[in-house]
Amino acid sequence: MTDFIKKIINAVYDCLFPVRCPYCGKVINKNDYACTDCKKLFPEKSIERYAVGGYKCVSPFPYSGIFSKAVKKFKFGNCGGYSKQLSFMVVQSILQTYNISEIDVVTCVPMHKKSLKKRGYNHSQLLAKECAQIMNIPYADLLKKTRENKAQHSIKANKRADNVKGVYEIISKDSVKNKNILLIDDIITTGNTLGECSRILTQHGCKAVNCAVLCSVDSH
Ligand SMILES: [Zn+2]
Repeated sequence: MTDFIKKIINAVYDCLFPVRCPYCGKVINKNDYACTDCKKLFPEKSIERYAVGGYKCVSPFPYSGIFSKAVKKFKFGNCGGYSKQLSFMVVQSILQTYNISEIDVVTCVPMHKKSLKKRGYNHSQLLAKECAQIMNIPYADLLKKTRENKAQHSIKANKRADNVKGVYEIISKDSVKNKNILLIDDIITTGNTLGECSRILTQHGCKAVNCAVLCSVDSH
Protein backbone atom coordinates (compact mmCIF):
# COMPACT_ATOMS: atom_id res chain seq x y z
CA MET A 1 0.00 0.00 0.00
CA THR A 2 1.36 3.41 -0.85
CA ASP A 3 1.80 6.11 1.80
CA PHE A 4 -0.84 8.19 0.05
CA ILE A 5 -3.50 5.47 0.35
CA LYS A 6 -2.49 4.81 3.97
CA LYS A 7 -2.96 8.51 4.74
CA ILE A 8 -6.43 8.51 3.18
CA ILE A 9 -7.45 5.39 5.12
CA ASN A 10 -6.20 6.94 8.38
CA ALA A 11 -8.06 10.20 7.66
CA VAL A 12 -11.32 8.31 6.94
CA TYR A 13 -10.83 6.23 10.11
CA ASP A 14 -10.27 9.37 12.23
CA CYS A 15 -13.45 10.87 10.77
CA LEU A 16 -15.53 7.79 11.45
CA PHE A 17 -14.07 7.08 14.89
CA PRO A 18 -12.95 10.40 16.36
CA VAL A 19 -11.11 10.34 19.70
CA ARG A 20 -13.22 11.82 22.47
CA CYS A 21 -12.37 13.43 25.79
CA PRO A 22 -13.29 10.67 28.27
CA TYR A 23 -14.42 13.26 30.84
CA CYS A 24 -16.98 15.16 28.73
CA GLY A 25 -17.27 13.43 25.35
CA LYS A 26 -15.94 16.33 23.22
CA VAL A 27 -13.88 15.35 20.16
CA ILE A 28 -10.16 15.90 20.82
CA ASN A 29 -6.90 15.50 18.94
CA LYS A 30 -6.16 11.80 18.68
CA ASN A 31 -2.87 12.16 20.57
CA ASP A 32 -4.34 14.19 23.40
CA TYR A 33 -5.71 12.82 26.69
CA ALA A 34 -8.46 15.36 27.49
CA CYS A 35 -10.02 18.60 26.22
CA THR A 36 -8.72 21.99 27.41
CA ASP A 37 -11.79 22.66 29.59
CA CYS A 38 -11.53 19.34 31.45
CA LYS A 39 -7.78 19.70 31.95
CA LYS A 40 -8.51 22.93 33.89
CA LEU A 41 -10.50 20.86 36.39
CA PHE A 42 -7.70 18.34 37.04
CA PRO A 43 -6.33 18.50 40.61
CA GLU A 44 -2.65 19.44 40.84
CA LYS A 45 -1.79 16.94 43.52
CA SER A 46 -2.40 13.21 43.56
CA ILE A 47 -4.51 11.66 46.29
CA GLU A 48 -2.72 9.18 48.57
CA ARG A 49 -4.65 6.50 50.40
CA TYR A 50 -3.90 3.17 51.99
CA ALA A 51 -5.63 -0.08 51.10
CA VAL A 52 -6.46 -2.57 53.87
CA GLY A 53 -3.16 -4.01 55.13
CA GLY A 54 -1.31 -0.72 54.69
CA TYR A 55 -0.61 -0.86 50.95
CA LYS A 56 -0.15 2.60 49.48
CA CYS A 57 -2.57 3.63 46.73
CA VAL A 58 -2.31 6.74 44.60
CA SER A 59 -4.86 8.33 42.27
CA PRO A 60 -5.06 11.48 40.17
CA PHE A 61 -8.76 12.15 40.84
CA PRO A 62 -11.48 12.12 43.49
CA TYR A 63 -14.57 10.07 42.66
CA SER A 64 -16.81 13.01 41.81
CA GLY A 65 -17.98 15.26 38.94
CA ILE A 66 -16.43 14.62 35.52
CA PHE A 67 -14.10 11.99 37.01
CA SER A 68 -16.77 9.63 38.30
CA LYS A 69 -18.70 10.13 35.06
CA ALA A 70 -15.62 9.07 33.09
CA VAL A 71 -15.14 5.95 35.22
CA LYS A 72 -18.80 4.92 34.78
CA LYS A 73 -18.64 5.41 31.01
CA PHE A 74 -15.32 3.54 30.84
CA LYS A 75 -16.66 0.67 32.93
CA PHE A 76 -20.28 0.32 31.92
CA GLY A 77 -20.62 2.33 28.71
CA ASN A 78 -18.71 0.03 26.38
CA CYS A 79 -15.88 2.59 26.26
CA GLY A 80 -12.85 0.39 26.92
CA GLY A 81 -10.94 2.51 24.40
CA TYR A 82 -10.89 5.34 26.96
CA SER A 83 -8.07 3.47 28.73
CA LYS A 84 -5.64 5.18 26.38
CA GLN A 85 -6.61 8.69 27.53
CA LEU A 86 -7.39 7.81 31.17
CA SER A 87 -4.05 6.07 31.74
CA PHE A 88 -2.17 9.31 31.12
CA MET A 89 -3.22 10.90 34.41
CA VAL A 90 -2.84 7.63 36.36
CA VAL A 91 0.79 7.53 35.20
CA GLN A 92 1.28 11.16 36.31
CA SER A 93 0.29 10.25 39.87
CA ILE A 94 2.43 7.09 39.77
CA LEU A 95 5.42 9.24 38.77
CA GLN A 96 4.68 11.72 41.58
CA THR A 97 4.61 8.96 44.19
CA TYR A 98 6.72 5.96 43.25
CA ASN A 99 10.18 5.35 41.85
CA ILE A 100 9.19 3.54 38.67
CA SER A 101 12.71 2.24 38.03
CA GLU A 102 12.09 -0.07 41.01
CA ILE A 103 8.85 -1.55 39.61
CA ASP A 104 9.32 -4.98 37.97
CA VAL A 105 5.80 -5.68 36.78
CA VAL A 106 2.38 -4.04 36.44
CA THR A 107 -0.79 -6.05 37.05
CA CYS A 108 -4.51 -5.47 37.64
CA VAL A 109 -7.41 -6.54 39.83
CA PRO A 110 -8.93 -9.41 37.83
CA MET A 111 -12.57 -9.99 36.93
CA HIS A 112 -14.39 -13.30 37.13
CA LYS A 113 -14.75 -14.94 33.71
CA LYS A 114 -18.56 -14.67 33.83
CA SER A 115 -18.48 -10.90 34.39
CA LEU A 116 -15.75 -10.59 31.81
CA LYS A 117 -17.92 -12.35 29.24
CA LYS A 118 -20.82 -10.04 30.05
CA ARG A 119 -18.83 -6.80 29.81
CA GLY A 120 -16.48 -7.93 27.07
CA TYR A 121 -13.40 -6.37 28.65
CA ASN A 122 -11.73 -5.89 32.02
CA HIS A 123 -11.45 -2.11 32.24
CA SER A 124 -8.79 -2.34 34.98
CA GLN A 125 -6.68 -4.61 32.80
CA LEU A 126 -6.93 -2.19 29.86
CA LEU A 127 -5.91 0.68 32.15
CA ALA A 128 -3.01 -1.31 33.66
CA LYS A 129 -1.73 -2.37 30.24
CA GLU A 130 -1.75 1.21 28.95
CA CYS A 131 0.06 2.47 32.09
CA ALA A 132 2.66 -0.31 31.73
CA GLN A 133 3.23 0.61 28.11
CA ILE A 134 3.69 4.34 28.83
CA MET A 135 6.20 3.55 31.61
CA ASN A 136 7.90 0.81 29.60
CA ILE A 137 7.41 -1.77 32.35
CA PRO A 138 6.22 -5.35 31.59
CA TYR A 139 2.55 -6.14 32.19
CA ALA A 140 1.39 -9.56 33.46
CA ASP A 141 -1.86 -11.09 34.71
CA LEU A 142 -0.76 -12.31 38.17
CA LEU A 143 -4.13 -12.94 39.82
CA LYS A 144 -7.39 -14.62 38.87
CA LYS A 145 -10.84 -14.31 40.39
CA THR A 146 -12.09 -17.77 41.14
CA ARG A 147 -15.51 -16.96 42.51
CA GLU A 148 -18.24 -14.44 41.67
CA ASN A 149 -19.02 -12.20 44.63
CA LYS A 150 -21.39 -9.30 45.07
CA ALA A 151 -20.17 -5.97 43.69
CA GLN A 152 -18.36 -4.16 46.52
CA HIS A 153 -20.36 -0.96 45.99
CA SER A 154 -23.63 -2.87 46.44
CA ILE A 155 -22.95 -3.93 50.04
CA LYS A 156 -22.36 -2.18 53.36
CA ALA A 157 -18.81 -1.05 54.17
CA ASN A 158 -18.48 -3.37 57.18
CA LYS A 159 -19.33 -6.43 55.03
CA ARG A 160 -16.82 -5.70 52.27
CA ALA A 161 -13.83 -7.41 53.89
CA ASP A 162 -15.71 -10.71 54.07
CA ASN A 163 -17.02 -10.30 50.55
CA VAL A 164 -13.52 -10.38 48.98
CA LYS A 165 -12.05 -13.13 51.17
CA GLY A 166 -11.01 -16.23 49.22
CA VAL A 167 -12.10 -14.73 45.91
CA TYR A 168 -8.65 -14.18 44.35
CA GLU A 169 -5.84 -16.63 43.59
CA ILE A 170 -2.33 -16.41 42.25
CA ILE A 171 -1.81 -17.53 38.63
CA SER A 172 1.88 -18.43 38.82
CA LYS A 173 3.92 -18.27 42.03
CA ASP A 174 7.20 -17.95 40.14
CA SER A 175 6.19 -14.74 38.40
CA VAL A 176 5.49 -13.05 41.76
CA LYS A 177 8.47 -14.10 43.89
CA ASN A 178 10.82 -11.20 44.77
CA LYS A 179 9.03 -8.86 42.41
CA ASN A 180 8.18 -5.24 43.05
CA ILE A 181 4.57 -5.08 41.83
CA LEU A 182 2.33 -2.19 40.84
CA LEU A 183 -1.34 -3.19 41.16
CA ILE A 184 -3.92 -1.17 39.23
CA ASP A 185 -7.70 -0.88 39.57
CA ASP A 186 -10.34 1.70 38.59
CA ILE A 187 -11.31 3.05 42.03
CA ILE A 188 -10.48 2.67 45.70
CA THR A 189 -13.34 2.90 48.20
CA THR A 190 -12.73 1.02 51.45
CA GLY A 191 -9.54 -0.53 50.06
CA ASN A 192 -10.68 -4.09 50.73
CA THR A 193 -10.32 -5.35 47.14
CA LEU A 194 -6.83 -3.88 46.63
CA GLY A 195 -5.88 -5.01 50.14
CA GLU A 196 -6.95 -8.59 49.49
CA CYS A 197 -5.14 -8.76 46.11
CA SER A 198 -2.01 -7.23 47.68
CA ARG A 199 -2.18 -9.68 50.58
CA ILE A 200 -2.18 -12.65 48.20
CA LEU A 201 0.74 -11.26 46.20
CA THR A 202 2.65 -10.70 49.47
CA GLN A 203 1.78 -14.17 50.69
CA HIS A 204 3.46 -15.59 47.58
CA GLY A 205 6.73 -13.80 48.21
CA CYS A 206 6.66 -10.55 46.24
CA LYS A 207 9.16 -7.94 47.39
CA ALA A 208 6.67 -5.07 47.49
CA VAL A 209 3.24 -4.14 46.23
CA ASN A 210 1.96 -0.64 45.64
CA CYS A 211 -1.32 0.40 44.08
CA ALA A 212 -2.68 3.02 41.69
CA VAL A 213 -6.25 3.79 40.65
CA LEU A 214 -8.06 6.40 38.62
CA CYS A 215 -10.37 7.69 41.37
CA SER A 216 -10.41 7.72 45.15
CA VAL A 217 -13.83 7.55 46.77
CA ASP A 218 -13.99 9.63 49.91
CA SER A 219 -15.04 6.94 52.36
CA HIS A 220 -15.60 9.31 55.32
ZN1 LIG B 1 -13.47 17.25 28.22
